[in-house]
Amino acid sequence: ERGNFAQKVPVTSKDEVGSLAVIFNSMAETLDNNSKLRRQFLANIAHELRTPLAVIQGHLEGMIDGIIEPNQKQLTSLHEEAVRLSRLIKDLKDLSLAEVRQLSLEFKAVAVNQMIEQALYMLKPLADEKKITIEQNLTQGLPLITADADRICQIFYNLITNAIRYTATGGQVTVSTELTKLEEQDWVKVTVADNGPGIDAADLPYIFDHFYRGDKSRDRKSGGTGLGLAIVRQLTEIHGGKVQVESTVGKGSSFYAMLPANVHEKAIISSSVLHN
Ligand code: ADP
Repeated sequence: ERGNFAQKVPVTSKDEVGSLAVIFNSMAETLDNNSKLRRQFLANIAHELRTPLAVIQGHLEGMIDGIIEPNQKQLTSLHEEAVRLSRLIKDLKDLSLAEVRQLSLEFKAVAVNQMIEQALYMLKPLADEKKITIEQNLTQGLPLITADADRICQIFYNLITNAIRYTATGGQVTVSTELTKLEEQDWVKVTVADNGPGIDAADLPYIFDHFYRGDKSRDRKSGGTGLGLAIVRQLTEIHGGKVQVESTVGKGSSFYAMLPANVHEKAIISSSVLHN
């Protein structure tokens, strides 16, 4: 069973590709010792990286040979593929570092509502483009959380992007925050709800896995990398929290991110803070 995939990638360069090789090596170590899983995962990465590259290469070769005229449309689609590729590499890097608990994190007191507003600000153009109404039900006076502000923002950004992307034009996305008690602990609960297509019950247990994409989402035009929710889960767990989903096909989906309120040494220690 142990083929080449169990071997490490030789690290020869210090550039992006070199740093990816380092990451893949540490991922390979932390991945389940099950070599089938590992093989599948590496095959997924190879496939996901190769597809946009093949498009870029094909187009450029066509232009060099004079078969394709380098017009605005061609250049735009080339650019889109390049953007997709760098998004994929960034997501892979974040996810793999998070999985081995080596993300560089800066913990401080963070106001959740403020992070949501920041994510919404970045996503306004996308929401406007799709004529999606965004309703905010943000509870005022919530306790702060001990967290890395950028990573918390990334959690909300990923959840809200999905809500906007998967919901049809003219739909509605609601973002709410509240304080809730669970297991004698205070949590800030963030809900991102949409009235989109919903998620098939058969897909639901797997959507937080890397590269798992619902049937309808396989079309790469949706712009996703298949890593968004895996990153959400890792980042939430690093903060001592959890993420859950409820969804009804034809009605919509609600994602809940629970983050421990205003504590706590425990979360910080268990997530092994590294500044690298
Ligand atoms: P992707 O890049 O495919 O969006 P994600 O990890 O963000 O990857 O999501 C995994 C899958 O979960 C998606 O492919 C899609 O099938 C499903 N999904 C996520 N969010 C939603 C949503 N708000 N509505 C419907 N389906 C969703």
